[in-house]
Amino acid sequence: MRILFASSELYPLIKTGGLADVCFSLPMALESLGHEIKIVLPFYRAIKEKINPDACLFKGKIFGCLGEISIFSTTISASGISDKAQTNMPEIEVLLVDVPDLFDRAGGPYVDENNCAWGDSAYRFTVFSRVVAMLGNDQLGLHWKPDVVHCNDWQTGLAIPLLKLVKKPPASLFTIHNLAYQGNFSKAEYDYLLLPEDWWSIDGLEFYGECSFLKAGVMHADWVTTVSPTYATEVQTPEFGERFEGILQFRKDRFVGILNGADYSQWSPQNDPFIDTHFSSDSISRKRLNKTFLQEKLQLPIADDIPLFGMICRMAYQKGVDLVIDALPELLTQNIQVVVLGSGDIYYEAAFKKLKQEFPDKLSVTLAYDEALSHQIEAGSDFFLMPSRYEPCGLNQIYSLSYGTLPIVRNTGGLADTVIDVNKQTISANTATGFVFEKANPPELIKAVSRALSLYRNKKLLMQIRLIAMASNFSWEKSSREYERLYRLAVNDGNKNNKPISRE
Ligand code: ADP
Repeated sequence: MRILFASSELYPLIKTGGLADVCFSLPMALESLGHEIKIVLPFYRAIKEKINPDACLFKGKIFGCLGEISIFSTTISASGISDKAQTNMPEIEVLLVDVPDLFDRAGGPYVDENNCAWGDSAYRFTVFSRVVAMLGNDQLGLHWKPDVVHCNDWQTGLAIPLLKLVKKPPASLFTIHNLAYQGNFSKAEYDYLLLPEDWWSIDGLEFYGECSFLKAGVMHADWVTTVSPTYATEVQTPEFGERFEGILQFRKDRFVGILNGADYSQWSPQNDPFIDTHFSSDSISRKRLNKTFLQEKLQLPIADDIPLFGMICRMAYQKGVDLVIDALPELLTQNIQVVVLGSGDIYYEAAFKKLKQEFPDKLSVTLAYDEALSHQIEAGSDFFLMPSRYEPCGLNQIYSLSYGTLPIVRNTGGLADTVIDVNKQTISANTATGFVFEKANPPELIKAVSRALSLYRNKKLLMQIRLIAMASNFSWEKSSREYERLYRLAVNDGNKNNKPISRE
């Protein structure tokens, strides 16, 4: 099949979170199943600073965009940015949508340099979605018509109904990576976007008095997916549904949870491109050298017998960052080290800075985005803290397992689907891989950390559980086949049950 994959992030070109990793590794897995994939992405300034595109495939104006649009082409390979010298690596073409007024700016895809959301994102991602839809219908002269357009998150949600403005659109699939981010905008902004007037309706984009780009994707895609089976169930309840529970229940026959996979060519102790000392379950003693490396790099006392806890995340309420902040003063009275890497909410960043001053020998805090350090933390830590309030899938706990870095997680979403709690039954069944706790409060987190510390003292059992964790396999092989199955259903089924809102 020909598949056009649309996203606002793509590793290694631009990444703010797991979306970028998934939009890299899932297409790679699909390509290895024999499909023909192109990925379409905005051409942000940060990407311009990294690569020179190979060719310009389109230049011109389209309806709904004031500026001129160019589409450039580049390729990425399984090892990251394409290296022409390595001809045997699978490669995927990336179509970069260049609208300089909208994407050639300092700052990130969604926020400016001061971490403030861009004020014109409704327009930016409407234009991007228009281009995605036109590519999907082969209206820009590329002579490549996909069988399926796979859109990801609200930034590409509008592309789904826009695709259906023509008579024979390709099949469509929409993936929700995080339901909390909905792309909701006011009626005044909506009016400025030049979308069909009758889309402002309950069956269209209207959502509690605003318009929602996420709703556009959820309501109109042939199939809707999210990134773990447990999250797919959770979001159909008011507790996790973020006001979408009714809409998702309405679409439940076409709504599936498919667990994200890990790209073990980047995230495994055997292959990791960012660590000096590789190891495997046969040479697990070498993991210690990664711990020493990390302690040295972050100027913590170098000692193998001090249990080291890692944490890498966007500093957001979702991630339970406040639980860690509240638990740390008590946890750090013990002989442990904690290494934190993240950026985001300035309130949390300030709290970590303050704690770092109080516990300089026990706590390392890096408030930045640092790809290399994130890998080194996975490799060098003994345990990984991920106490998310909700977690659509979560990748870091999956990465942690592969490095024998036992995750400490809440029983929610993808965390519940990937980590098996250490207890009597799971120890004797040889299935335990980490620590799972129920309630999002500091005492429960502290209890889970205490359980981890007890295990740390029992070296034989610690080794047994590390080996089980390292043997767990969350590769894309199975999940990419599930996507493939949905693509086929969508293509075969056409749009029978899913009429466009209106046609121009
Ligand atoms: P989310 O997408 O909700 O942020 P995930 O666990 O699905 O969470 O994915 C997070 C990804 O982003 C992981 O690859 C993680 O290593 C990476 N990441 C998050 N924060 C940072 C950071 N400050 N520096 C480097 N990588 C980070």
